[in-house]
Amino acid sequence: MATPIAGLHHVTAIASDPQRNLDFYTDVLGLRFVKRTVNFDDPGTYHFYFGDDTGTPGTILTFFPWPHARRGQVGAGEVSHTAFSVPVGSLDYWEQRLRDNSVPAERTGTRFNEEVLTFADPDGMKLELVAYADAPQFLVDQLTAPRYADVPVEHALRGFFGVTMLETDLAATEKALNVLGFNKVAEEGSRVRFASPAGTALGNHIDVVIDPTVSYGNPGAGSVHHIAFRAKDDAAQLDWRAEIGKHLSVTPVQDRTYFHSIYFREPGGVLFELATDNPGFGIDETPEALGEALRIPEWLEPQRAVIEARLAPIELHQSSQTVAQAK
Ligand code: ZN
Repeated sequence: MATPIAGLHHVTAIASDPQRNLDFYTDVLGLRFVKRTVNFDDPGTYHFYFGDDTGTPGTILTFFPWPHARRGQVGAGEVSHTAFSVPVGSLDYWEQRLRDNSVPAERTGTRFNEEVLTFADPDGMKLELVAYADAPQFLVDQLTAPRYADVPVEHALRGFFGVTMLETDLAATEKALNVLGFNKVAEEGSRVRFASPAGTALGNHIDVVIDPTVSYGNPGAGSVHHIAFRAKDDAAQLDWRAEIGKHLSVTPVQDRTYFHSIYFREPGGVLFELATDNPGFGIDETPEALGEALRIPEWLEPQRAVIEARLAPIELHQSSQTVAQAK
């Protein structure tokens, strides 16, 4: 039996204006810009990575910003909401901070045991902050708050809580989640919650909302492109690849520089990835310099000048008011 999959590794979405995307996630949400690179399959497009101070798996939200992308419309077979954990008691701070930045936010009540604050990013991507009542101590102790953010450490986002997938039917999606070791742990109305045996791992709340009447969406800016689960290492990934391959069509391992990936689509339509924890974002930059320069893989270096010329210039604002450092 392979090592259990431990919740989410990253979530990847589509954005439009790169600078606006960068500003929102660093200046407003206080995430660290951990990597400035390009989409390896389409090097004329940026690939931005945001996370905690070092880009710990389970904290990483990534974007393909296409400057002229039309806004998407969420529908069946898509991730409708991406949720971050915050400490209980931090929602008032966040509600005020979002309001101060002209971001409408709504307290959407208590879901299972947790209070939820819902808002959207500048491209309409639906985000949630969940006051994680049963957060394990490691969420408080181990995640390192981004060093250049002006969000007080005690309110900093604590990585992913989970995602919500919208589906017309549960059965086939449930079966695919079961293959990955995610089993039903709770149910509330049309929402069914799945978790892996990894328990309190980051991003280990995969919710499926069932709406038989919902139509398919239109992917575009604000749409989640795929979600990636965590494989402990390359050996665990190969074990899981063999297991998944018995049920679904799965790609060969692909080298994404910062992790190794396999991809497969669950029958409801959401693209899944299984990404390794290794080697991580420190492979080509020091912890201090993460995100400051454009990093591209070795095999694209000969084309660097052409690639740079095609990318819109961006400016990273690093707040020096507070060099936040969690204990
Ligand atoms: Zn990915």
